[in-house]
Amino acid sequence: MGSSLRLGKILGIEIRLHYSWFIIFALVTMFFYTDFQAAEYSVSVSLAMGLVSSLLIFLSVVAHELAHSVVAIRSGIPVRSITLFVLGGVASIAKEADRPKTEILMAMAGPACSLTIGLASGAAWFATGGHLSEATAFHSVLFWMAVLNLQLGVFNLLPGFPMDGGRVLRSILWQRTRDYRRATHIASIAGQAIGWAIAGVGVVIAVTYLVRGPATAEVIADALFSGGYLVLLGWFLSSIAASSYRQVAWREAMKGITASSAMVSDFRTIPPGMSLMELVRDYIQPNRSRSFVVATDGRLQGVVNIENIRKVPQSRWDMTTAASVMTPVNKVITATPEEEGVSIAEKMEEHRLDGIPVLRDGVVVGLVTRNSLARVMQMRAQFGTR
Ligand SMILES: [Zn+2]
Repeated sequence: MGSSLRLGKILGIEIRLHYSWFIIFALVTMFFYTDFQAAEYSVSVSLAMGLVSSLLIFLSVVAHELAHSVVAIRSGIPVRSITLFVLGGVASIAKEADRPKTEILMAMAGPACSLTIGLASGAAWFATGGHLSEATAFHSVLFWMAVLNLQLGVFNLLPGFPMDGGRVLRSILWQRTRDYRRATHIASIAGQAIGWAIAGVGVVIAVTYLVRGPATAEVIADALFSGGYLVLLGWFLSSIAASSYRQVAWREAMKGITASSAMVSDFRTIPPGMSLMELVRDYIQPNRSRSFVVATDGRLQGVVNIENIRKVPQSRWDMTTAASVMTPVNKVITATPEEEGVSIAEKMEEHRLDGIPVLRDGVVVGLVTRNSLARVMQMRAQFGTR
């Protein structure tokens, strides 16, 4: 995920904050601030409690994702990072579990962690007398920690993919049918259905508000907030359910494709000494390609693309060489001939590349491009070759 802030590492996992998370931080702080204000706390105490509560929610979401991650790592599945964004957290787990049991454990760990925190906060709230009328700011924070973590746990247990409960459902179906793609498909349909059901409840709530009395501005605002929120959430859930399935189907379709089966071998390389003028005139314009491999006797020297060339004023193109503007070999993203198509496609996506040179012992043996990958997948779809 792009545009995020690196916070640090816990258990070797990078914790990142997507910029959209600041919206939540502000909203949550504001929510708690007004809540504490209504309970007649002073402005400074309310603000402090708002900030502390936001921070605790942040830590609760991190704990949830860490629980998933710890089980993943113990099962030998590497976890790159945890990113918090506007609607929660995502652990970037390097690959899917290869056994249903592993996935069930991984999926359950998050909600289990949230429910534990929720119950512990609730118990602490009760034990310290939070249910008595003279509740303090401390109790309010504990109470919200309990409510929010229980909600986080229960909500994630809904049996629709890609939520945690949906992952459990998929694993059970996977175990029964031995068909990973089909299991994911059914679980994602459940996810879409749950999304539409939540949106439906939202519509019903909004309509109830509107038909109950005269549609004053206040009633309309209430209807939009309480019902509209659920409609948005439901719509979001059903769309991620559909797109997560497409993602899985795509990965399945890519299975077995390697760099050597998807690369083109008849591409032209650029000698390092070639001028940008010549490069643009003889290569980029006629081929309409965006990037070229720079090599001497087949050995990779670097990659030059349109962005590199644009940094040089056109008047100097005839005296500037490809070698002086290219991305040097030590910074070029490359692939081995055995590398899997999925991993290459992910590299292209992550680094926004149009092509990746394939190297064997430092010699360029081919080039995988978005087009060449698409062509192989199309061929496989047409001829069913495996
Ligand atoms: Zn989770």
